[in-house]
Amino acid sequence: MSDTVKILLNESDIPESWYNIAAELPEPLQPVLHPGTGQPIGPDDLAPLFPMALIGQEVSAEPTIEIPEEVRDVYRMWRPTPLYRARRLERALDTPARIYYKYEGTSPAGSHKPNTAVAQAYYNKAEGITKLTTETGAGQWGSALAFAGALFGLEVDVYMVKVSFQQKPYRRALMESYGARCVASPSDETEVGRRILAETPDSTGSLGIAISEAVEVAGGRDDTKYSLGSVLNHVLLHQTVVGQEAVKQMEMAGDYPDVIVACTGGGSNFAGLVFPFLGEKLRGGRDVRVVATEPTNCPTLTKGKFAYDFGDTGHLTPLVKMHTLGSTFVPPGFHAGGLRYHGMAPIVSHLKDLGIIEAMAFTQSQCFASGVQFARTEGIIPAPEATHAIQGAVVEALKCKEEGTARNILFNLSGHGNFDMQAYTDYFAGDLADEPYDEAALAEALSTLPPVAAE
Ligand SMILES: *Cc1c(COP(=O)(O)O)cnc(C)c1O
Repeated sequence: MSDTVKILLNESDIPESWYNIAAELPEPLQPVLHPGTGQPIGPDDLAPLFPMALIGQEVSAEPTIEIPEEVRDVYRMWRPTPLYRARRLERALDTPARIYYKYEGTSPAGSHKPNTAVAQAYYNKAEGITKLTTETGAGQWGSALAFAGALFGLEVDVYMVKVSFQQKPYRRALMESYGARCVASPSDETEVGRRILAETPDSTGSLGIAISEAVEVAGGRDDTKYSLGSVLNHVLLHQTVVGQEAVKQMEMAGDYPDVIVACTGGGSNFAGLVFPFLGEKLRGGRDVRVVATEPTNCPTLTKGKFAYDFGDTGHLTPLVKMHTLGSTFVPPGFHAGGLRYHGMAPIVSHLKDLGIIEAMAFTQSQCFASGVQFARTEGIIPAPEATHAIQGAVVEALKCKEEGTARNILFNLSGHGNFDMQAYTDYFAGDLADEPYDEAALAEALSTLPPVAAE
């Protein structure tokens, strides 16, 4: 057998609908609550921030939702994405496991994130919106939305976590190339930003703060809405094109995955790959083990509480039931900026709570070691976030070696790391600290979760 096994689909295989796992959960999701009243929120509460079409998807009970032709047409620029078998990595690990990966780094922005950015830009444009605000950590989401905004003629303002703004000038240049405006957060453009700067003038920012800024601006203007790159039900929904393609590609490979691994920041690339397979399992089809991997320094699923919390640091968002480290928790610096969020998608959290999925946490040194081994065998420089998925797959493959069993492992290579070479430079220089998070700060953040009567 050839060493290069690449499984390609045709344009006609781009899915025609998104898959909505919320319609098939064994137990329903907990409602989203208004922070003032403690009552479930309705569509009107979300209308200042999101277009009606997306609010409808957020609460939809339909198992499938048709993808507009205009969105499919943009998907055609890079979809379907390839699925590879990592034979060279298998050999380097000397494992009997068969390792497959779905590669989402072929999109213009270099990750899975355009799958939802394009859909969100389309629906906002269709409802007459002219401008979107958003936050970005490492810059992947900001680049994806900037790209989508350029295609649909929308202005895009990106509040970028200050430490990334300073450390990742190329990501910023990419967003500006697509025509977006990039603002270091906390900024003096918003009340939240000014308040935080007054309290902590040298604040390096966080995703939670940047979200507050973007939400504040969108909430105050009729022509502007807010766009989120992960966590929300409609974002996870849009990502399911990934898994639907992978189901077909695994069929073509003649293998069904025994275990699927993906990294989790807010849960969207994980959901995208995993939900179509989990749907088959929930409908009584084939069993599959599903593992979410996260950084030990932001251990939302492995150490967080499953409780109602705010999505942002400034407490402007509704309350959602999710695994959370507390909305005021700021993890120590590490390179996988896309995995530094304090919360987790409610659907992913719910599946974890029901015992349908598992979670593992890894240090960034472990992840970079596996990421470099992957680059040297498979040729792709993985995004720092994606090295967490690789590390999970490597752990599973080595378990197969120990047990002498040949399982099929599928993981999501959510993006390339071509804009993250500073992280690799630091790794090779031995400068990657595995500075643990502050236990006392985590306990403090968890002790201030908002009280919710319904729980
Ligand atoms: C943003 C990002 C992630 C983390 O976000 P999820 O919503 O959990 O997928 C993972 N990988 C890459 C490449 C990203 O850009």
